[in-house]
Amino acid sequence: MLGSAPVPELVDHTVPSADSERERSFALLARVSASLGGSLDPDETVARVAAVSVPDLCDWCVVDLADDQGRLELASRAHRDPALEPVIDELRRRYPPDTAAHPIYEAIREERTIAEVLGIDDLRRRARDAKHFGLLRRLGIGSHVVTPLSTRERIIGAVSFVRGPLREPFDADALTTAEDIAGRAAVAIDNARLYRAVQDALELRDEFLAVAAHELRTPLTVVSVHWELLERSLRRAIEAAPDDDVVMLDRQRVANSVERLGEAIRRLRRLVTELLDVNRIQRGVLEMYAQEVDLVEVARHAAEEVVEPSRIELDLPEAPIVGWWDVGRLRQVFDNLLANALKYSRPGSPVLLGVSRDNSIARLAVSDSGIGIPEDQLEAIFRPFTRGRNVTSRNYPGLGLGLAVSREIVMRSGGRIWVESAGEGAGSRFVVELPLRRAAIARARTPSP
Ligand code: ADP
Repeated sequence: MLGSAPVPELVDHTVPSADSERERSFALLARVSASLGGSLDPDETVARVAAVSVPDLCDWCVVDLADDQGRLELASRAHRDPALEPVIDELRRRYPPDTAAHPIYEAIREERTIAEVLGIDDLRRRARDAKHFGLLRRLGIGSHVVTPLSTRERIIGAVSFVRGPLREPFDADALTTAEDIAGRAAVAIDNARLYRAVQDALELRDEFLAVAAHELRTPLTVVSVHWELLERSLRRAIEAAPDDDVVMLDRQRVANSVERLGEAIRRLRRLVTELLDVNRIQRGVLEMYAQEVDLVEVARHAAEEVVEPSRIELDLPEAPIVGWWDVGRLRQVFDNLLANALKYSRPGSPVLLGVSRDNSIARLAVSDSGIGIPEDQLEAIFRPFTRGRNVTSRNYPGLGLGLAVSREIVMRSGGRIWVESAGEGAGSRFVVELPLRRAAIARARTPSP
């Protein structure tokens, strides 16, 4: 086809032969596995496939991935002489593999490995013009193995391993190694893509929840304000109205509704706050402002303001325990631990709130005799959206965010939080330790003056 096209200089890509081909192949496969396992980024994984095969198995390597329409795209390439990598790009740009006849398409279509030894005449025949022939010769082709990348569900592309004309062509062992590499590569690429898909889905979820929480905040504020107005009017009406039975009954009904509305609003407000805080934590923008705080005082207020204050038994010292913390955030930790203790234990059962000091450490503990926590989940429940196996959203509503937010607050205050529980049904004891010294909160942001 090419007539008397000039034959460019051949490049000697010969690799000195190894003592044991098999040992080399084992070592290569071990390197391939280690390299492919080291990344969960699909692009990076693909790049490693080509890089790791050169020069031990071949002189140059090209990975093609198919898009949704089955069109191939050069995804990565490597040449033992890096200066020739742009030549691979030029070859593919000027002479993209043609769908019908190219070995890459053939390997994918027929789902099989294609191995060929290619002499100079074969190259001449296959080249579309003299420039094409020149590029192929510069890169060096003596033999090649093209093998499909097949995952559990479909073929996602192909890898072409190429040896120069001065190197031994691929033998049966080298062909097996090439197929092995392609098999491992397909699994690694598939895993990396799945991982990215999961990450994208999680990101989408977090974005959705953040937007939802923001959107909910405005109507929630309106409802809260009107509920407060209603409650105040009701109180005034009760004081002013005559003591007649019908009015009394009505008043009772309205009072019940207002109370239940109040509880629902508080719960909703907590959920929205938790969602917004978790989003702030994920974005690394949870604000914390340190100031001098008496932990005993915070504990007392928190205990007074829970839904059922009568269930809280306090064990507080006489003297204040003063530290340098963000009082609002600290209150959030108390509120969350107390609300959980009340929620996850029998109605009416007591909840113990203790605060103490141990040298430079302040300690608070919230104990209940409730449903307890499965032993293997004592750590996990501090992760966002993670709930104990022994709770269902029907029995115990919640999103599994409060402890994640509490842990971030405690950690940002230089402290630690953990839970002790002898298992399901055995109650729980949440402990928080906070350093009293100011230095410990240095990591938290302080407001600009
Ligand atoms: P939520 O209570 O909304 O699920 P949290 O992050 O506050 O979210 O708690 C996470 C999980 O930890 C809960 O779903 C529950 O399984 C468990 N948990 C928390 N506090 C207690 C407790 N006092 N007793 C038993 N389980 C608890």
